[in-house]
Amino acid sequence: MKPLTIAIDGPVGAGKSTISDVVAQRLGILHLDTGAMYRAVGLAALNEGVDPGDEAAVCRLCREDGARVDVRYQNGKQVTLLNGKDVSDEIRTLTAGGAASAVSRYQPVRKMLVARQQAMARQQPMLLDGRDIGTVVLPDATVKIYLTASAEARALRRRNQLLEKGTDTPLETILAEVNARDYQDTHRAVDPLRQAEDAILVDSSDLSFEETVEKILSLVEEKR
Ligand code: C5P
Repeated sequence: MKPLTIAIDGPVGAGKSTISDVVAQRLGILHLDTGAMYRAVGLAALNEGVDPGDEAAVCRLCREDGARVDVRYQNGKQVTLLNGKDVSDEIRTLTAGGAASAVSRYQPVRKMLVARQQAMARQQPMLLDGRDIGTVVLPDATVKIYLTASAEARALRRRNQLLEKGTDTPLETILAEVNARDYQDTHRAVDPLRQAEDAILVDSSDLSFEETVEKILSLVEEKR
């Protein structure tokens, strides 16, 4: 029998990563945050002085094994490695996010990472979150959720997240970033962000964290 697979897609700042972490924990399965993998490739470009907007240069870096992304689990928690080094914290900056959004437009980058994600999901029950999980990575996922919230709600949450990490960024800056990333993610030529036809829409604008987790858990129960 195929292992249980849960696909959670949605725009930036919808709370996918944190919500997915808790949902997976409660179900006793692993969570793969696929955005972390794109961020690692973006970081590889930045570290090597390669312009993330330069498709040929980014793809060359990947071909020449300069952006090797691996994922390990430590006590059930994802550790993202770039060329063997743990970059789990380093990939969380706005700059790395911007670079991720740029490099995620390139077909060879997506092909490389999607293959890795599919291989992992074949091995064990998993929850994957990203932009193309229900549409491309796991079209046969057991449950597909499209998790969203208004741009304002998402920007506010992002700001609070950054504040917790000690960075005080004006809300307008973050809202502009959220809108720019939404545009880029939904308008790119390759695998744009969109709700899969069989995905269930969950709008968390007016839901608390716990309510969103409960809602997703009950949808998983229904589908299992
Ligand atoms: O989810 P997160 O914001 O960490 O993702 C960073 C960037 O990686 C996104 O803006 C998106 O462009 C890209 N991404 C993607 N496909 C995924 C996950 C993330 O294109 N499955």
